[in-house]
Amino acid sequence: MQITRLADLTDKSACPRLVVKVGSSLLVGAEGVRRDWLQGLVAELAAARSRGQDVIVVSSGAIALGASKLGLDRGGRGSLADAQAAAAVGQIALSALWADLLGVHGLTAAQLLLTLDDLEDRRRYLNATATLTRLLDMGAVPVINENDSVATQEIRFGDNDRLAARVAQAAGASAVLLLSDVDGLFDRNPADPEARRLGEVRGVTAQIHAMASGGSASGMGSGGMTSKLQAAEIAERAGIALAIASGLADAPIARACEQGIGTLFLPKRKDVGRKAWLGGRLRLKGALVVDAGAAKALERGGSLLAAGIVRVEGQFQRGDAVAVQNEAGAVLAHGLAEYDAADCAKVLGRKNAQQAELLGYAPRSAVVHRDQMVLI
Ligand code: GLU
Repeated sequence: MQITRLADLTDKSACPRLVVKVGSSLLVGAEGVRRDWLQGLVAELAAARSRGQDVIVVSSGAIALGASKLGLDRGGRGSLADAQAAAAVGQIALSALWADLLGVHGLTAAQLLLTLDDLEDRRRYLNATATLTRLLDMGAVPVINENDSVATQEIRFGDNDRLAARVAQAAGASAVLLLSDVDGLFDRNPADPEARRLGEVRGVTAQIHAMASGGSASGMGSGGMTSKLQAAEIAERAGIALAIASGLADAPIARACEQGIGTLFLPKRKDVGRKAWLGGRLRLKGALVVDAGAAKALERGGSLLAAGIVRVEGQFQRGDAVAVQNEAGAVLAHGLAEYDAADCAKVLGRKNAQQAELLGYAPRSAVVHRDQMVLI
C-alpha cells in the first residue's frame, strides 16, 4: 500500500516504518526543556508502536538545550566552538530525557550520533543500516542526532532535516514526519494573510523552491524551509513520503495526520539500495560537465561517454561519487566515476577508439556507467 495522504502516516500497512524528526524549538523553550509537551509526543510514538509501526526519532535540541544550561547567547550558535560545547552538554541531557520518557511506555531508547560521512561513505552507510535494522528488530526506538560536538563545518549536515531523510533511506522507512514550528509549506511568506498552505506536493520543482524562505524562524534550529525542501528531494527520489507539520500543539502527530494539517511530499520514484544512497549523497568529490547531447543521452537512460564531457572539476579517484552537470551548472545526475579526475581529463571529448592511446590501457565502456548513476 502506498502513502497518498497524511492519514497514511499512522497506518501500519501504508507506513510500517516512520521517522519522526523533532525540531529544537519544540523541545526547548525559554524555560529549558518542554518536558510536558515531549511527554505527549512520546505517548503518540508509543501508540504508533502499539499499532505495529517501527519508529525512529531524529531529535534536535542538543545545541539549544546545552546553550540554555551554559548560559550561552545566540542559542549557542555564536561560533562553532560554542555550538560544539553546547551540543556536548545538551546531548547528554537530551538522551536521558528520551530514555526516561520512552521508558515510561516500556520502550527502550537507543542513541545514535551520526556525522555526515557516516551516511556519505557507502561502507559506513551500510553499517548504519545494519545497526538500525538490528535495533528495530529488537524493538528499540533509535533516537538519532548529528554528532555536533565533533562535526566541524566541512563535515556536518548542519540540519537534522536532511539527516532525517538520509536516516529514512538507510533504514528503509516509508515516511518522514518533520515536526517544527510551521504548519507546512506555504505558497508565500506565511506571515502574509494571503498565504495558503500546500496540502500536497508532487515533485520539488524550482517553483516550489521559490516559495521557501531562508533560515529557521525560531532562530533555535538551523533548518528553515530550505533544508526541509532539500530533505523532501532526497526522500522523493528514494520512494519515501515526507511531511512537514507543526509540532506546537499537543498531540502533534494526531493533529497533522487526523486533521490533515501539514504538507505531504509524495515520492516520485523508488530508487533502492546503492542508487538511493547515491541519489541522496550531499557532498560529491567532483563534477563532470557535459554537453547538451550527452545530457539528452542520460535522460534516455544512457551511460556517460567521454565524448560528451566538456570539463572535469575537482579531485576524485576511480569509484568516487561525482556530480554530472550541464554547462549552466545544473546537476543532472550523481554517479560513480570509472576513472580518476586526471584520466577523465585525458579522455574528455574523445571517442572510444582514441582513448587507449591517451590512457595507456584499454578504456572502460563509459566514464560513468548507467548502472552506477542516478538522475537528479
Ligand atoms: N543537531 C542540532 C542539535 O541537536 C540541530 C540541527 C537542526 O537544527 O536541524 O541541536
